[in-house]
Amino acid sequence: MRYGSTKKVLVTGGAGFLGSHLCDRLVAQGHEVLCLDNFFTGTRYNIRHLLDRPNFELMRHDVTFPLYVEVDEIYNLACPASPVHYQFDPVQTTKTSVHGAINMLGLAKRVKAKVFQASTSEVYGDPEVHPQPEEYWGQVNPIGFRSCYDEGKRCAETLFFDYHRQHKVQIKVVRIFNTYGPRMHPNDGRVVSNLIMQALRGEDITLYGDGQQTRSFCYVDDMIEAILRMMATGPEITGPINVGSQDEITIRQLAEVVCAVTQSKSRLIFRPLPSDDPRRRQPDITKARQVLGWEPTTRLRAGVERTAAYFADLLARQGAVRDR
Ligand code: NAD
Ligand code: UDP
Ligand code: UDP
Repeated sequence: MRYGSTKKVLVTGGAGFLGSHLCDRLVAQGHEVLCLDNFFTGTRYNIRHLLDRPNFELMRHDVTFPLYVEVDEIYNLACPASPVHYQFDPVQTTKTSVHGAINMLGLAKRVKAKVFQASTSEVYGDPEVHPQPEEYWGQVNPIGFRSCYDEGKRCAETLFFDYHRQHKVQIKVVRIFNTYGPRMHPNDGRVVSNLIMQALRGEDITLYGDGQQTRSFCYVDDMIEAILRMMATGPEITGPINVGSQDEITIRQLAEVVCAVTQSKSRLIFRPLPSDDPRRRQPDITKARQVLGWEPTTRLRAGVERTAAYFADLLARQGAVRDR
């Protein structure tokens, strides 16, 4: 698939997990990429291989502050994504989603850029409808520990659609479901990174609750493909569109895959379920299939193998630094 001619592209949160993979693809396509990050959860390590590329530029900046640059497209990914990180400073999390969206939409309006928003399955909260279609409005607690993230992202969607209706800004809103892969933060507390790190270290594997809650895990390469396809759609396509895997599994089943891949002898142990932890989550991706001609192609086992290889390498490097 071709994505059009060379453009100036801004990626906010570009040094993070998804952002760095997106920068890889955009740089490879020959676009001039401006990667913006405040390095809250992102790292230079994630983009180190891009730093000397002539069409890549890194800028330290916080999206809650205005930004004046000239670009054709904006991918707004800046926002901590794991509960451990977004609950560390909840007020800053809401500011990042809301003020960040206002600034990126204001920028898009001024320079007439297309703007992509990384929204989330969390806008559905703990869903009563299963699987979740885009028309479902969700069940979200406005005052809980997850609210800074969920409500921040919901408000960002509101802003995107109001800038579209009121100011004719071209918007692309995608609701991302659980995604995993290399460059996930090893300590972000998310289930895939936690379980793989515990298995590799021979530590006990922590299952929250009874481990029977479900998620549907999408490999990062598939997700980036969906994001690029969304940006390439015509102006009539605004979203929101769900993107993610439909292979729903229990967290316990995920632990079994991780143990098999890493050949770990770790024990499974049970810990209390965090509050507002959704019981089930699976996207309805009918729209993504129709509009983007997209569906994930990476099998869970293959994705877990690549992710485990990345974390094993990271642990070996940390060991080498310690031993020096
Ligand atoms: P991540 O934490 O690896 O990336 C987020 C990046 O944003 C980091 O590099 C961080 O330093 C940066 N950032 C945070 N606050 C910022 C600010 N105020 N100004 C500038 N930069 C800031 O997480 P990720 O998994 O790559 O998520 C990327 C986006 O995708 C997020 O918006 C997230 O909400 C969304 N998303 C991710 C998933 C997933 O499963 N990975 C699911 C749904 C939605
Ligand atoms: N903004 C920005 N870069 C731009 C244009 C605007 O960061 O190139 C920010 C600025 O902080 C502004 C916000 O986006 O407050 C919203 O812009 P808009 O034009 O919608 O509103 P206003 O300027 O009236 O506040
Ligand atoms: N989880 C778990 N053990 C862990 C980390 C998470 O059982 O070490 C569970 C968590 O309670 C949730 C699921 O795995 O039910 C997915 O958690 P994650 O934080 O990765 O994503 P989210 O809850 O945002 O979908």
